[in-house]
Amino acid sequence: MARGLQKLESQQKNAAKANAGGKSNLKTRAAAFKISCPSCKLPLSDYTNFKAHFESKHPKLPLPTEESLAPK
Ligand SMILES: [Zn+2]
Repeated sequence: MARGLQKLESQQKNAAKANAGGKSNLKTRAAAFKISCPSCKLPLSDYTNFKAHFESKHPKLPLPTEESLAPK
């Protein structure tokens, strides 16, 4: 049993390595963007980044709350 488990773990490690530099990287990056700017649709990874973006790009607009951006 222990040997089988080790084999499985090493297979998973190899799979993780393959994913790190492969095509699936794009998917992972897209998943990292949790919110998008309501004004220009730019994807942003979190509210801190969004706030920095919004304050520099849309200084005249009121800053949306984190709650209003988070997917329900
Ligand atoms: Zn924007």
